[in-house]
Amino acid sequence: MQSTMMDFPLTLTAILERSGKLFPKVEIVSRMPDRQLHRTNYGEFYRRSRALAEALTRSGLKRGDRVATLMWNHSRHLEAYFGIPAAGGVIHTLNLRLAPDDLVEIINDAEDSMLIVDDILLPLYEKVRDKTKIGRVLVVPLSGQRVSAGYENYEDFLKQASGDFQYPELDEREAAAMCYTSGTTGMPKGVVYSHRALVLHTFGVGLGDTFGLKQLDVIMPVVPMFHVNAWGLPFLAVMIGSKLVLPGPLLDAASLLDLMEQEKVTLSAGVPTIWMGILESIEKNSGKWKLQPGLRMVVGGAAAPEAMIRRFDKQGIMICHAWGMTETTPLGTGGRLKSYMRDASEDERYATRAKQGLPFPFIELRTVSESGEAPWDGQTMGELQVRGPWVASNYYKEGADTDKWTVDGWFRTGDVATIDPEGYMKITDRTKDLIKSGGEWISSVDLENALMGHPAVKEAAVVAIPHPKWQERPLAAVVLKEGMQATAEELRAHLAGKFAKWQLPEALVFVDAIPRNSTGKFMKAKLREQYAGWKWNEESESK
Ligand code: AMP
Repeated sequence: MQSTMMDFPLTLTAILERSGKLFPKVEIVSRMPDRQLHRTNYGEFYRRSRALAEALTRSGLKRGDRVATLMWNHSRHLEAYFGIPAAGGVIHTLNLRLAPDDLVEIINDAEDSMLIVDDILLPLYEKVRDKTKIGRVLVVPLSGQRVSAGYENYEDFLKQASGDFQYPELDEREAAAMCYTSGTTGMPKGVVYSHRALVLHTFGVGLGDTFGLKQLDVIMPVVPMFHVNAWGLPFLAVMIGSKLVLPGPLLDAASLLDLMEQEKVTLSAGVPTIWMGILESIEKNSGKWKLQPGLRMVVGGAAAPEAMIRRFDKQGIMICHAWGMTETTPLGTGGRLKSYMRDASEDERYATRAKQGLPFPFIELRTVSESGEAPWDGQTMGELQVRGPWVASNYYKEGADTDKWTVDGWFRTGDVATIDPEGYMKITDRTKDLIKSGGEWISSVDLENALMGHPAVKEAAVVAIPHPKWQERPLAAVVLKEGMQATAEELRAHLAGKFAKWQLPEALVFVDAIPRNSTGKFMKAKLREQYAGWKWNEESESK
């Protein structure tokens, strides 16, 4: 039997229209490099996004053409998020923390035809200009200085629009945006998002248990808009019509806290490193910042240590842990407790909240070990595989003909995880970061989290180092908090109750910092290289 429903496309233009019609007076606040606040609203944003779409169309942009952005979080980047897809183009957000050579590779692979760049980032673009073939470059005058001679001003480009723009008829399966994987495991690969995937992701992550967004909320995405769609927050804020606060390039803890206080932020999102810095500042300067009661922060991109979740709770700030990847638009799971779990012991509740959470509706998870699909027992580790309407089915130009997709259509994440009987997924490692000692697996992530639970430890990364007898043994690199002391013996004693003896880090080294990649994740490969020649004590009685 045929349904009697309309076949209405799920496109970003419907979200844009909604914001312009229903929420024109709601504010969008952007902080400029000189700390000044630039204030606009959804009415103006709507007009300017459509002006961008019209000017792009007039300048000859064709369906599917890639327009790259090299920009911080501010209202003009938000216009690009909507204006480019509204013209039938594809927004390709470039990660400004990448090395110029990586940017060259990515720009050339994507064949970007235009670029919108913040004036303060022009020096970076100039490093790649001669090795790329971008046809037209528009410069956003962010610093208030005049746009340098030889470049086209983004504001002048917008003025070419008459205001009478008709959207092209967009198919929901057409491309709207594109990002590259962070390339920690080889060449970055392009992931192309459809309108449909972005819209469904927006609905999924906006539900009560993760972002739980209401129009009354004030959202500050600290996660950069050049990292996988800023986790969908820009689309979500525009769809719901919530006030947006965009922090620009100043991302130190004090600047963020000032902005959160001043603009009354109720919801934010970012990687654990940022929240660690914020936590330390709040703890050190008790009462300095008056944050909104019930402030929520979504943490993802790397594991949120349980100790961090506990410490934020003491400050009255609610952390929600989420997991995702470039290939999953990016969010796949988010962690809140189920209603009947409130009666569980405190330790159980925190242990569950520190897991990466439950899959969003329409996202399906499974873990697969060498002996097949793993049971949901919270114990058996296996490779995490995922499928759903906002999960990539192939890479740009590469197709699905790689070992990243299974024959039955699941995406292989490269993460190792357990799923407990309640369905909560817990990342225990990356496949390549697991430690195999004497034939037994050790989770580096569990050791790291436990180490970070010690009051003197700021950060810890655990890696596998080749061992003559046990194949591999864990080595922990530890960064101590400023002014704090701890010995290797004390840290091992701290872990001893929680792990079997053979699982304890065989070596513990104190370092000033742990190497990180451009998206803030630990670069364990670097650590492994650095300590590859470690001289083990042959007497070791560990397993
Ligand atoms: P990317 O594609 O650069 O966003 O990186 C995705 C990878 O980041 C995932 O495959 C995980 O290894 C890691 N990741 C993301 N979120 C979390 C999280 N909440 N806990 C642990 N690892 C995470």
